[in-house]
Amino acid sequence: MNNTRGATLLLLWTRAALAIAGVPASCAAPGSDSGGVSLSEACVWEDFDAAVERFSRVLQFETVSDVSAPNHAARPEEFARLDAFLRAAYPRVFGALTVEKTGADALSYLLTWTGSDPALRPVLLVSHTDVVPVTPESIKDWTHPPFSGAVADGFIWGRGAMDVKVTVVAILEAAEALLGRGWWPTRTLLFAFGHDEEVGGAMGAVETARLLESRGVQLEVIWDEGSGILLDGVKPFMDIPVALVGTAEKGYQSAKLHVTSTGGHSSMPPIDGSSVGAVVGRLLTRLSASPPPPRLVSPVTDMLRGLAPYAPAWMAAVLSAVGRVPGVDALVARLMASASAEAAALTRTTAAVTRLSAGVADNVLPQSATIGVNLRTLPGDGPGEVLDYLTGVVGPR
Ligand SMILES: [Zn+2]
Repeated sequence: MNNTRGATLLLLWTRAALAIAGVPASCAAPGSDSGGVSLSEACVWEDFDAAVERFSRVLQFETVSDVSAPNHAARPEEFARLDAFLRAAYPRVFGALTVEKTGADALSYLLTWTGSDPALRPVLLVSHTDVVPVTPESIKDWTHPPFSGAVADGFIWGRGAMDVKVTVVAILEAAEALLGRGWWPTRTLLFAFGHDEEVGGAMGAVETARLLESRGVQLEVIWDEGSGILLDGVKPFMDIPVALVGTAEKGYQSAKLHVTSTGGHSSMPPIDGSSVGAVVGRLLTRLSASPPPPRLVSPVTDMLRGLAPYAPAWMAAVLSAVGRVPGVDALVARLMASASAEAAALTRTTAAVTRLSAGVADNVLPQSATIGVNLRTLPGDGPGEVLDYLTGVVGPR
């Protein structure tokens, strides 16, 4: 994340995570794992700067995942360096927990903190150590270099700061601190850190899941990387900061549209709009002008009703009626669909053109082109709905 808002979120999030770890002398001593860890303002992380420094270091490893690499790691040596750092930085965690390296070339992690009551089903905390690549042309746009881990202007900067080394570090900081004060869980805690989440997780999280399945592990709950804190609120309902708890994830589908034409020489392009370029242009216009229609589904409806008490009075009445009063859902969905990209994405299956390819030479009309569309689907929208939508938008007219 290379913008200021992202970095601000990061800092808030990190502080929150560290507060949960809660070791300061000013907090009440914990009694058990079921309580006593204060989240109050009075609890100030006494080793905050050191924790920030550790986080900064973690951001400096270029742990980029790459779907074309045999183990999904662009540079496996960077993952090895990160591993050495984590073991040195969190000695209690790596000493007291059962540490298993999983996935391709053992690049992912499964850490098991065995609870005192084996009858309780474990809780799984999920994160990932990999980040997406930085394109060379975007380097100049970074306020601080993407792998600098710069601590400047009150922020921590770097690729992976938001997505999602922050939770790897927060989990390890919390566990290290709790171990340091002699805390031990009643319920087993599992930490799974994948190394290829950004390219699908097939060689990391999937392998770890298979391992847990082979052992017959039944989980009580999974906490995944989740969302952030919307400092500007949820438009158009409120402008106070809102911390989102992710309870569902949209589906992911990709489609390819192939366009073919007769081609020819660029000196005499067709005058009837049949060139590949003209057809692609029309299709792109249609796709952008006709997104899938907005609608409200659970759990968005639950979220909106949950926001109601914090919204201005007139809006609170509307939000409280979501899912209960006929017509309100359609109205709210339309409002959200035009309020912001974030709000719109909550209300519809999104369709984004992400790839375009055509042409072999400056002076040759291409005979074919490919348009890649990535869709993030709402619950209830499967491949059939996606195909219906695309056919309806780009089919013959
Ligand atoms: Zn992520």
